[in-house]
Amino acid sequence: MATGVATTCALTHATPAGFIVHIPSRNQYVQIAEQIAASDVDVLFGGGLDHFSSTNGPCLPLLQKKMKVALTTEEFRKIKNPKKAAALLYPVHPPWATERSVSLKELTQKAIEILSRDKDGFFLMVEGSQIDWAGHQNDGTNVVSEVIDFDDAVGAGIDFAQNNGETLVIITADHETGGFALLGGSVENQTVDKTGFVHGGHTATMVPLFAFGPGSDVFHGILDNTDIGQTMIRFIQTSE
Ligand SMILES: [Zn+2]
Repeated sequence: MATGVATTCALTHATPAGFIVHIPSRNQYVQIAEQIAASDVDVLFGGGLDHFSSTNGPCLPLLQKKMKVALTTEEFRKIKNPKKAAALLYPVHPPWATERSVSLKELTQKAIEILSRDKDGFFLMVEGSQIDWAGHQNDGTNVVSEVIDFDDAVGAGIDFAQNNGETLVIITADHETGGFALLGGSVENQTVDKTGFVHGGHTATMVPLFAFGPGSDVFHGILDNTDIGQTMIRFIQTSE
């Protein structure tokens, strides 16, 4: 299968790295970059250029030997249907959604365009990374705009799956952050009157899990978060 990650954080950050590398600590960014550059992942879209080009472990040339690496939005938009592609669009993390020149939807669409050309199928992990960060800061305005940026990317995934008919889309979170509450607003106008938080850390609030496409009926009720990964592994190991 073709594989890829598309994120709104450095590619070396916990979630994208968790899908690609094995390492004792999430903070070993340079070593994480080295493992990512040495991996067989076909699509790598996000930030983190500094970790790939640091003097401690300059693994950018290794990555560039394998695939075109876009370092600017303009270069990213010029990527035309290669088998593999990377975009390291920021030194470390991208700014907030309202200031990003490339939306997560655009990254997702480009990733799907590249990966879906593999006749064996593909696995793509897309993360709206900064929803959590806005939660930590109790910043309701950025929670809302980050969720909208993520929701647009979900739409791109569902659009592809609806046409393709053979793709399972799973949407979930690793945890809730801040005890966030929406207090009034308009769905139609995408506005929120007021937001509230109970603190600045991760909470034990259960998170939504949505699934669309073949195999989606397995995901229902209350699940342990580790069941989701185990089920995905089972699907990949048993599907033809
Ligand atoms: Zn967090």
